[in-house]
Amino acid sequence: TNYHYLVPLLDRIDEGRSIDASHFAAAYHLAKSEEITPKINLVGPLTFLANAKCSDGSDETFAYYERVVARYEALLLALSKLDDRVTIQCDEPIFATDRAEGLGLLIKDAYTRLCRVAPNLTLHVVSYFDHASEATKVLCTTPVAGIGLDFVYGIENLQTLETIAQSGKQLIAGVIDGRNIWISDLDAKLSLLERIAEVVPKERIVVSSSCSLQHLPYSLRFEEKMDAQIKQWLTFALERLEEIALLSRHFFDGVLDAKAQARWEENRRANEARKNSSQIRNDAVQARMQEIERYKKARTPFEKRINKQHERFGYLPLCTTTIGSFPQSDAVRQTRRAYKNGEIDEATYIERIKGFIRDCVALQEEVGLEVLVHGEFERNDMVEYFGEQLDGVAFSQNGWVQSYGSRCVKPPIIYGDVSRPAPMTLFWSRYAQSLSNKPMKGMLTGAVTILNWSFVRDDQPRAETCYQIALAIRDEIDDLQKAGIGMIQVDEAAFKEGYPLRREKREAYERFALESFRISTGVAEDETQIHTHMCYSEFDDIIETIEAMDADVISIETARSGNTLLKVFKQKGYRQEIGPGVYDIHSPRIPSIEEIEAQIEALLEVLPARQLWINPDCGLKTRREEEVKPALRHMVEAVRRVRQKHGIG
Ligand code: GLN
Ligand code: ZN
Repeated sequence: TNYHYLVPLLDRIDEGRSIDASHFAAAYHLAKSEEITPKINLVGPLTFLANAKCSDGSDETFAYYERVVARYEALLLALSKLDDRVTIQCDEPIFATDRAEGLGLLIKDAYTRLCRVAPNLTLHVVSYFDHASEATKVLCTTPVAGIGLDFVYGIENLQTLETIAQSGKQLIAGVIDGRNIWISDLDAKLSLLERIAEVVPKERIVVSSSCSLQHLPYSLRFEEKMDAQIKQWLTFALERLEEIALLSRHFFDGVLDAKAQARWEENRRANEARKNSSQIRNDAVQARMQEIERYKKARTPFEKRINKQHERFGYLPLCTTTIGSFPQSDAVRQTRRAYKNGEIDEATYIERIKGFIRDCVALQEEVGLEVLVHGEFERNDMVEYFGEQLDGVAFSQNGWVQSYGSRCVKPPIIYGDVSRPAPMTLFWSRYAQSLSNKPMKGMLTGAVTILNWSFVRDDQPRAETCYQIALAIRDEIDDLQKAGIGMIQVDEAAFKEGYPLRREKREAYERFALESFRISTGVAEDETQIHTHMCYSEFDDIIETIEAMDADVISIETARSGNTLLKVFKQKGYRQEIGPGVYDIHSPRIPSIEEIEAQIEALLEVLPARQLWINPDCGLKTRREEEVKPALRHMVEAVRRVRQKHGIG
């Protein structure tokens, strides 16, 4: 998902400190006052440890196992006092990953201990997004009361039903999709439940969503502008609850009353309508998809291309640039809002955005950057902006989903064949290029990232949808290069985070993700330089794939991990050019010249100058101009000093 969290850093766990459960108590009592007896959800201790880091940067978080479990015991004891019986759900999504394999002993130990904290506790352990076969087998040997499994994204969970049945535990059957928005096929869901009930006795089954509903928008109720047909194919969180209730009633009672029966029929009709709709089909796209192999052809070898590019642009080693966006000031946001609300007309809007671009280009010229960007002022979000311009994609008015803290995104809803009715970025890139003699990087979001950060249709393989988006991006690249935009960046911020949790599913993802990138960029001439950018990720295990993406330049977010990451590129003999971020844009702190200089020197110990670009580690949109200007100045000056010292240029 596009959900991100602040990674807990473990260093010292103060055992003397008492547990503060007042937050849980307040929520619990509020629910009780509404006549609900709630269960209490916690992140399970093993997932907590697996997703934390040590403050010294190491991953040895399980060294804290004893202390963390002891804190959980203390917390559960405090929670057990809230009521006569207290039900606690521990979310353990880590059980749906390959890591579960090595965690058996700890799962056994942790959940045996947590169940023993107090006699009035009922413990459920829930996982999602894939199967949890290894953990399920272990959990069945502990005193936990219930196990929650995802039967939408982890159908392999069916294989452990026998074990669950023998253990006598409750099964929380996640059969309704909790992370996508398409209406359920209730008939199919009912058969799935019946199939489960052949193994696990009905009275021990609880009908549920496949995961928490936090990844869905809140409700469809307030969507007034959405296409009426498409709206019937959707369910947001509240509507999911209705589905669960309806399905559960049918499953347990066998019969439905007239009103419920009518709703069931309605669901059937909506599914039929979606299947047979002409709205989801685009013949031109289908025709192109028939020839998709043709679009997968590789570019000429990198060594040949890069020489032509050096000739064309003549940039020096350690070329300076940025990742694309510049500060989204209040004025910028107000302009977009005013246009969207119809308060200013298109001509006024265009003039104002042009003004921001002019200022941005002037600023970059002034600080002395060598490859410029237009600043992305016309974009609300790197995915939403493209989604809004593609056919086959719908938008909600209020479909916000939490992404990070209080930051939310409104994911595109890809409901049909995707195509590009008109150029999406050409106008702005062309204008920006007209303002400077320096290369102006075109700025696109890659197909894989658009896919991973959207609600994707579930009636065809994701790969196919991804190829369709890739073709649209391909056409945009071609338009840009024909207009003289010689450097084009295709952002793949979500490339790594889209990787499946299970090793055996990785290859298929990798193949179509890679192919999609190449379908888009394969249209580039030798002299067109393709850049890509990836946000903070662990690249160690995907370095071959990154190489195979065959971009000419990749900028990556390394500022927070020193140059260890870069060593991986060196070890694997990575040949293309790399811009490792030299400072962390997520902090308002302005890095000094000396600091960046030292950072560049450290990079030079690993890779030759000719292979290196110098840039911040991500887009600057969340920073303020007062921070950005001096930081970039320092970066440019640091490069000047290093070049002088090494006799470059
Ligand atoms: N080009 C985008 C920007 O600069 C990239 C954002 C990202 O990597 N998340 O904002
Ligand atoms: Zn980034």
